[in-house]
Amino acid sequence: MGKRYNALSDYFKKEYGKKMVKLAIDGGFTCPNRDGTLAKSGCIFCSEKGSGEFAGVVGSGYDPNQAYSIHDQIESQKKLLADKWKSTGYIAYFQNFTNTYASVDILSKLYDEALAFDGIEGLAIATRPDCLDDEKIELLKEYKQRGILWVELGLQTIHENSMNWLQTHYTLDQFHQTFMKLKSAGIPVVVHLILGLPDETHEDFMASVEYVSSLKPFGVKLHMLNILKDTALQQDYENRRFELLDLETYIDWVTDAIEILDESIVIHRITGDGAHDSVIAPLWIKNKRSVLNGIEKNLVRRKVSQGSKKSQDHSLLQNIT
Ligand code: SF4
Repeated sequence: MGKRYNALSDYFKKEYGKKMVKLAIDGGFTCPNRDGTLAKSGCIFCSEKGSGEFAGVVGSGYDPNQAYSIHDQIESQKKLLADKWKSTGYIAYFQNFTNTYASVDILSKLYDEALAFDGIEGLAIATRPDCLDDEKIELLKEYKQRGILWVELGLQTIHENSMNWLQTHYTLDQFHQTFMKLKSAGIPVVVHLILGLPDETHEDFMASVEYVSSLKPFGVKLHMLNILKDTALQQDYENRRFELLDLETYIDWVTDAIEILDESIVIHRITGDGAHDSVIAPLWIKNKRSVLNGIEKNLVRRKVSQGSKKSQDHSLLQNIT
């Protein structure tokens, strides 16, 4: 039986007739929230690797202190995966830090380097809404016209208190304006949301999902708030010991989100993929298979499929624009 939601793997098979694998690339960027332009500490959950734990890995000899060329990163990751999957297409996923935080000349040089590699069929670019001016959107539009491309934006929540706690240093309004510009330029956007933020209720989380669903982005990623070593979040967690969602509640909340997400949206992720060694809590996220199975079973038990409960209330949008 197929999945009860519009999963990325199924989308790829339907659109491209094969499996597509994302190769996490470190483009050597930094972030205005880390380099002192906006702040130095970064988002509260941001790790040393700029929230891209697997980006830039080049096989067993990987040295985190060395900068590898895009060519080396792609070649090495493709080699590692070659035996695992045959007839696969690849997407270069510029994952860590802010992958539009440079001039358009530098950006096109890096993107071109990735696309020049045999087997790379598209780009996924993670960035911030305040690092996409009109010139960069125009550049991305050109790449989109050449093939597969999407942009990933970490909204995380629509609630101002939570955004302040997360220290993202951008606002919902900035997100909204950028999202709309990307959408009118025909650039697909994947929006990230975090479940289990301290001081957020189930209702708060569902309001964020409702807002995102009403935008009808290309995709959504749902993540549990996880506490990683050597982050500001670790400090805050150790000081306050706020409660984290247990596995059962997480499964229920994801099920609730799937139930109201518009059927057109591709769900890229429903559980995190953090590096195991860095996770301090909750420990259940390390067992990705059991989280995924739990969600599948819950969807069946509750007879829920994506968009099966359409929400009537899109009033939130009117308050934002
Ligand atoms: S925007 Fe991304 S790279 Fe920048 S501080 Fe936040 S998580 Fe880190």
